[in-house]
Amino acid sequence: MVRVTDQPDRVSADLFTRAQALVPGGVNSPVRAFHSVGGTPRFMVRGEGCHVFDADGNDYIDLVSSWGPLILGHAHPAVIEAIREAAGNGTSFGAPTPGEVDLAAELISRTPMESVRLVNSGTEATMSALRLARGFTGRDLVVKFAGCYHGHVDGLLASAGSGVATLGLPDSPGVPAATAADTLVLPYNDIAAVREAFAAHPDRIACVITEAAAGNMGVIAPRDGFNAMLFEECRKAGALLILDEVMTGFRVGPGGIADEADLYTYGKVMGGGLPAAAFGGRAEVMSRLAPAGPVYQAGTLSGNPLACAAGLTTLRHCTPQVYEHLDSTSVTLRGLASEALTAAGVPHRVSTAGNMFSVFFTDADVTDYAGAARQDTAAYAAFFHQMLTDGVYLPPSAFEAWFVSAALDEAALEHIAGVLPRAAEAAAASQR
Ligand code: PLP
Repeated sequence: MVRVTDQPDRVSADLFTRAQALVPGGVNSPVRAFHSVGGTPRFMVRGEGCHVFDADGNDYIDLVSSWGPLILGHAHPAVIEAIREAAGNGTSFGAPTPGEVDLAAELISRTPMESVRLVNSGTEATMSALRLARGFTGRDLVVKFAGCYHGHVDGLLASAGSGVATLGLPDSPGVPAATAADTLVLPYNDIAAVREAFAAHPDRIACVITEAAAGNMGVIAPRDGFNAMLFEECRKAGALLILDEVMTGFRVGPGGIADEADLYTYGKVMGGGLPAAAFGGRAEVMSRLAPAGPVYQAGTLSGNPLACAAGLTTLRHCTPQVYEHLDSTSVTLRGLASEALTAAGVPHRVSTAGNMFSVFFTDADVTDYAGAARQDTAAYAAFFHQMLTDGVYLPPSAFEAWFVSAALDEAALEHIAGVLPRAAEAAAASQR
């Protein structure tokens, strides 16, 4: 890591002070505020490959990758060129553009979707999929799983993971009681609870929404066959299954997890670092969407030409070799982390779904939110800060995935291997 100031986070600290006077909590998305690890968030000014540079002049190896989208690393030349070219032709038209058709075709070719609608964020995708599922079935109730995060949709904030878990808020004020009452929250990976819910509410459940693999309470893979059993239970009950692949889509493989479902949601990687997301699925269901059908959904900037260009270029560069590299990098990294923690005597579990993984500071296997919540978050905070000091930018929360990018190279892995023992020792010290 290169430091150009004696006070490593002075400029960031000044910016944070200014920001706090202007923006609630000083950030535009809660987890960025470092609340669960303490300290000052770093204000980033530049990214290149697997490196990010903060306003203080520090250079970090980035294991956040903008929370997933930057699968090719920062400022990938082809992606930047595609954005430049698109921008040169105008930034938005509020009319159809060829790029939207190309991106829709690419998405459909890689996933089980037959039809797709582009939106601007993962939140919009899940919100719209929910409305469509309700419109299609004529039912109101939604089943979600504790610790799964699907964006800040009113009805889906009950027992959400991610930033909500980070803040320790079980729920959010401002969600109408009536909306929360239409959401049934069940333990993740518990198919018996799903069967009981269907039995208790016959003909009332519109849909079950689940992360294709949980990534927002830390990474927790579905038990073998869990998603397939959900689909089967939904089918028997006349409900729809929404598989949320906002995090997993195009990250854990060319399409994502792609288990059978009625509707799918995507975001992150498909926008290549610009705001783009999508929902889609069976043509029969999607044809109920306006203007083809009566369920309303719209967006001024949906299918934005810059975002479509960035997304399409990113997807086209996600070759089988890229996924092989992501997988092997992930295996190496989690092995290194586990080795360092074991050597320092820190109890932990590495939990994976494809190339996504989390390190839980706990001595028990984690299969649901209750298990994730038992981890030693203070030990994670100590580990995180030592890594940050040593030039590695990890997620500033114990409830998040570590995101690898194709730009992580041997030099980066060597650096990480060199500094992990110190961070593991810091975690051990916090437990003494
Ligand atoms: N769904 C999942 C699985 C996510 O991980 C996220 C964001 O982290 C969302 C939905 C919401 O996406 P966005 O932050 O783009 O609104």
